[in-house]
Amino acid sequence: METSTDGAGPSSVPAVPPGSLSPSRASDFMQCPLLYRFRVIDKLPEKPSEAATRGTLVHAVLERLFDAPAGERTAPRARSLVPGQWDRLRESRPEVGELFADDPGGERLARWLGEAELLVERWFTLEDPARLEPAERELFVEARLESGLTLRGIIDRVDVAATGEVRIVDYKTGKAPRPEYAEGALFQMKFYALVVWRLKGVLPRRLQLVYLGSGDVVTYDPVLADLERVERKLLALWEAIELATRTGDWRPRPTKLCGWCDHQAVCPEFGGTPPPYPLPVGAPESSVGEQGRMGAD
Ligand code: SF4
Repeated sequence: METSTDGAGPSSVPAVPPGSLSPSRASDFMQCPLLYRFRVIDKLPEKPSEAATRGTLVHAVLERLFDAPAGERTAPRARSLVPGQWDRLRESRPEVGELFADDPGGERLARWLGEAELLVERWFTLEDPARLEPAERELFVEARLESGLTLRGIIDRVDVAATGEVRIVDYKTGKAPRPEYAEGALFQMKFYALVVWRLKGVLPRRLQLVYLGSGDVVTYDPVLADLERVERKLLALWEAIELATRTGDWRPRPTKLCGWCDHQAVCPEFGGTPPPYPLPVGAPESSVGEQGRMGAD
């Protein structure tokens, strides 16, 4: 058994990098390696946020609406699903109820639910669910690359045309980014396209981002070279994660996104001290849940 040199004690072994990458975790590492460590290696808890929880709620409503016959997929029906899906979300993730623990009168909750309903309603100005028959909803996908790296994620919707052409669709409850920042969102979609390609040998015809916050639809038709580029990028990222895991060199990379980070108290950039590293025996391998969907934003 190896002994830590940084105070973690003789009961520690080096941390092991998780065997898979999701779009969210890949984005975490690109944003800030220390953030990746806090989330994937240390598994530090994070408080639910109103925005992310609203995103989860809206996604659930849009998915459930397709249970209804095409002619009944209307905006009023979708809105009416919001309270019930909120109840289900609280049952499956009781911690989200804390968001409104200081709201005994329920005004803030009512406003928040109203915002979710508006986002749901806006979807009908962007797509017509009565004319869609998704091949898949909330599809968990996973593919192992030759290098041994496993890619996984959850695709909001997959449409397959009569011609066999595949469209991958992702809902965002935030606003569309300015064009100079669009590549970040497209990275997630190309990641999914790569997984589908590796899994089924099918190159998706179209990638579609539906921004409910601003009422925009962004599409991209990938070519094979895009996916090969993303695969090379992910492999390089993976090597960097393995190196950081081995050396313990998880550099903080401060940006304006630090304002959204739950871990400032243990981040050196904000005067904090990270937990000891390497970790105690038995800590590593991340779960599907943590590696799943890109943050609802
Ligand atoms: S506060 Fe900023 S620099 Fe520190 S871990 Fe979070 S994202 Fe990284």
